[in-house]
Amino acid sequence: MGTDTEKILVIGAGGQIGGELTLALRKRFGAEQVLASDLREESPLIKGTGPFTTLDALNKEAMLRIVQEHGITQIYHLAAVLSAVGEKQPLMAWNINMTALLNVLEIAKEEKLKRIFWPSSIAIFGPSSPKNNCPQQTIVEPTTVYGISKYAGESWCNYYFEKYGVDVRSIRYPGIISYKAAPGGGTTDYAIDIFHSALKTGTYQCFLKKDTFLPMMYMEDAIRATLELMEAPSENINTHRSYNLGAISFSPEQIAAEIKKHIADFRIEYQPDFRQAIADSWPASIDDSEARNDWNWQPAFDLAKMTEDMLKNIKP
Ligand code: NAD
Repeated sequence: MGTDTEKILVIGAGGQIGGELTLALRKRFGAEQVLASDLREESPLIKGTGPFTTLDALNKEAMLRIVQEHGITQIYHLAAVLSAVGEKQPLMAWNINMTALLNVLEIAKEEKLKRIFWPSSIAIFGPSSPKNNCPQQTIVEPTTVYGISKYAGESWCNYYFEKYGVDVRSIRYPGIISYKAAPGGGTTDYAIDIFHSALKTGTYQCFLKKDTFLPMMYMEDAIRATLELMEAPSENINTHRSYNLGAISFSPEQIAAEIKKHIADFRIEYQPDFRQAIADSWPASIDDSEARNDWNWQPAFDLAKMTEDMLKNIKP
């Protein structure tokens, strides 16, 4: 896919992943080729790095106008309500997550866009799915509204591919850890908060139990995976539902021990809240062999390397 002919719209560019993805896409395709958008005003992370417009992804007419006016060829659709926020307002989460995705898919069909990226999540899995090395195809019975919306979204993506030939590609992101922007209200947010709190106060009160293992990934790996999937030749893509993607699996106790290697007197306490039930419904680790086979996925960051990088970058 030639970089100079692409015009990319990022929806949800003000978020934890959307901001860093916008910067990576601008580096790859050129600043002017990547139009960032969000419901909120432009975030400090992307301000001054390229074009921005406000867009409510629930407004299909506004989205269509932007696509036509800017000659958009690809959309990266990141806007969503995440797991912990979704459990507090289930119908609002369902409405935003589904309506926005269907608007993107309809416009992709009508305007014959070249390619769409939309992230799913490990939250599609539920208590009846295998806990360890959860495979891509297995029992899928999500128990959170977020997981239900992501699983329905995967089926819609596949439907638009099969029925209308929309080349939509997707990854089931694990918990994404990063330092550049604040997380958006997910169950894995503790693994980001813990670094800020450790550096600020030397302590952390964790909202999950110490032995809660969850699949996680450092942002740098997540961004690279996204670009690699989107640039993979079509014949290598064997699912237009979503790919399992794995990197690291750890518990609060393990990440705390890793932080202690850098901050010797760091202390952690555990006070589980409603997010424990969400975490308990998800797998502890992910089998991503299909992504590895189809488009050569390889993570670069393990827990030790990620911890070192987080502490180094948050410090200043
Ligand atoms: P985030 O909450 O940080 O960002 C979402 C952005 O979408 C926000 O800037 C918000 O203002 C915007 N938004 C919300 N409603 C909108 C609307 N109606 N119109 C336009 N913009 C709107 O989320 P994130 O962590 O960056 O996640 C991005 C995507 O990745 C989501 O689809 C999420 O489900 C998925 N995902 C994230 C993680 C993670 O750990 N962060 C894990 C799995 C999947």
